[in-house]
Amino acid sequence: MKREFAVIGLGRFGGSICKELSMEGMEVLAIDNNEDRVNEFKNIASHAVIADSTDEVSLKELGVKNIDHVIVAIGDDIQASILTTVILTDLGIKKITVKAQNDYHAKILNKIGADQVVHPERDMGKRIAHNIISNNILDY
Ligand code: ATP
Repeated sequence: MKREFAVIGLGRFGGSICKELSMEGMEVLAIDNNEDRVNEFKNIASHAVIADSTDEVSLKELGVKNIDHVIVAIGDDIQASILTTVILTDLGIKKITVKAQNDYHAKILNKIGADQVVHPERDMGKRIAHNIISNNILDY
């Protein structure tokens, strides 16, 4: 059975998640308040719509309530990220993954009910460091 996802924020991080999920055959609703970004995903995601995720009414109208897993990939606008997450928890979304910009942001996201908080740059830096170490060990 196809799983349903929504990705809010189609920057490099959210866009990449949206592309990978779509390529794996998942149903993805792609949301951004920037028309150009949304147009880039019209042929990639199952649905791509222009909406402000801090507007509860818009999210309800889009049927976000019925989606299994929502990924919030808004980075710079921490206030929008927090407000979007609160709305999603109020809607009763089963799983919410949110990109954190810094430790304070992450702390708040955990408190307001995000199920998974990710720090893409930090996490990727760690993985690459471990990868470099294991490659070096193999080289010796
Ligand atoms: P990345 O670091 O992933 O490349 P970015 O630097 O392009 O992202 P961010 O500020 O992290 O930009 O925002 C990611 C996306 O979220 C942008 O495409 C932006 O238009 C979108 N976005 C920001 N606020 C909202 C909002 N309230 N509703 C919907 N989309 C939003």
